[in-house]
Amino acid sequence: EKRIGSDIEIAQQAAMKPIGEIAAQLSLSEQEWMPYGHYKAKLSIDILERLKDAPDGQLILVTSINPTPAGEGKSTVTVGLGQALNRLGKRAIIALREPSLGPNMGLKGGAAGGGYSQVVPMDELNLHFTGDIHAITTANNLLSALIDNHLHQGNALGIDPRRVVWKRAVDLNDRALRQITIGLGGPANGILREDGFQITVASEIMAVLCLANGLDDLRERLGRMVVAWTWDQRPVQVSDLGAQGALTLLLKDALNPNLIQTLENTPALVHGGPFANIAHGCNSLLATRMALKLGDYVVTEAGFGADLGAEKFLDIKARMGGLSPKAVVIVATARALKMHGGVARDQLGYEDVEALARGMENLEKHIETIKAFGLPFVVAINRFTSDTEDELAFINSWCDARDYPVAESRVWSEGGAGGETLAKEVLALIKQHKGHYRPLYDTAASIEDKLQTLVTRVYGGKGVEFSSKAAKQLADFKRLGWDRLCVCVAKTQYSLSDDPTLLGRPSDFVLHVREFQVSLGAGFIAALTGNVMTMPGLPKRPAALDMDVLPDGRVTGLF
Ligand code: ADP
Repeated sequence: EKRIGSDIEIAQQAAMKPIGEIAAQLSLSEQEWMPYGHYKAKLSIDILERLKDAPDGQLILVTSINPTPAGEGKSTVTVGLGQALNRLGKRAIIALREPSLGPNMGLKGGAAGGGYSQVVPMDELNLHFTGDIHAITTANNLLSALIDNHLHQGNALGIDPRRVVWKRAVDLNDRALRQITIGLGGPANGILREDGFQITVASEIMAVLCLANGLDDLRERLGRMVVAWTWDQRPVQVSDLGAQGALTLLLKDALNPNLIQTLENTPALVHGGPFANIAHGCNSLLATRMALKLGDYVVTEAGFGADLGAEKFLDIKARMGGLSPKAVVIVATARALKMHGGVARDQLGYEDVEALARGMENLEKHIETIKAFGLPFVVAINRFTSDTEDELAFINSWCDARDYPVAESRVWSEGGAGGETLAKEVLALIKQHKGHYRPLYDTAASIEDKLQTLVTRVYGGKGVEFSSKAAKQLADFKRLGWDRLCVCVAKTQYSLSDDPTLLGRPSDFVLHVREFQVSLGAGFIAALTGNVMTMPGLPKRPAALDMDVLPDGRVTGLF
């Protein structure tokens, strides 16, 4: 068997085209794309205006079962499927999220795909890319500085310094910054108060940038963000501080989608990167809409399993953006299915068909979820070299027995060629025109009812429990008319429940909502469950310790 190099080794051997050639492939005029170096460009959102009457391409969503900590290959399959569609002569575009430096330096590679299905330049994408995340960090922290300055300069709005909910941000995993004290050192140094940091990709500004449909909408959403509460319990918004203009200014270039390419020169719009546990987990709406105008097929991915990313894609992003997805690819791996069947993490590389059979119940639940949204699906088995023929045969026969479309994906080891069977299945689903997407809940329902719907219909549990803090917040939301917003559940990605140790298909469980986070700008109320944190920590041996630059400038250790 041929040896497959590491992701970075393969990426470094890529035959990239100058980005102008990719822009030309999309028939963009010179004014519509701005080069960022040789292999990256930003695309003007004016493209959407020029093409507003052009028909949309077909939108394909890639999701997965509950993953192992290594990820199940959603990005890899997304990229590979796009490449495969191109090989079949279709004009396909990939729409992905931008990776965060936090997980990159910690545990897990970026969101660039893997093996022979990656977007490139992989190192630039995973490091500073086109500066979007830096711009978001800066806008976030300008707002923090303006809040603290407001407190210092007389606090005309009457902000209770104990109730500033806006946090500072940095795009790293840094647990020591979760809770901090600022303003130490006497009157010259501002007002003493507790504060904290979030990872940038968990910040509301990231979510706002990803859901905005243009510059004006961006400004309005930023203005709506709640930053604090007054002494008399009224919310303080960015517009009360008058900061929405400056924030918009800092984000004006970051709002433009980024164009790069895959290893096989398929165009890829990589833009925005909100986390899928603590935020909505999809690439930007503008990039998706632009891709739909520029291509006949758009393959996009939503983070973690279908209980998190796909649910939020379908209930939040597609609803807000008026998107109409046509087919869903549910990625499953033999190793994750075995994990759901009870196999220990260090044993996942060995054959165990019985455990695999038990683990199928996790896939079954996610299939039910996608059906509940009215969408047709195909199961993609992301093939690993350790998978055995018996295991693959079992998954295939399990799907066949239920009439579920299934295809093996070898895009990691073979690139687009290894995804043609999957691509044909997807094309057939779209052609049959069987699905009709509908969101799962009505926004007019109460937050409690929306959560109940998610728990019973998506997670498979029986109910929701609120902490006393969360219950009090719900009463506030009703009073303020905020209960008509979407809900965005922050939950572990490892289980359908809020307990990461409950694998497979748990039932009869209760979802515990610890507290809510208000994201008026994004347009949702985040429900925080379990131990989900908005600032991750680094593992004992961070991936960063293996990274370096060679004398010739090449990157090592970046997966
Ligand atoms: P996800 O998007 O689900 O988090 P990724 O596509 O980012 O997962 O893949 C996670 C990691 O697993 C990447 O480093 C990728 O190279 C690797 N990977 C994905 N598919 C395979 C496969 N079939 N065989 C081996 N490694 C794979």
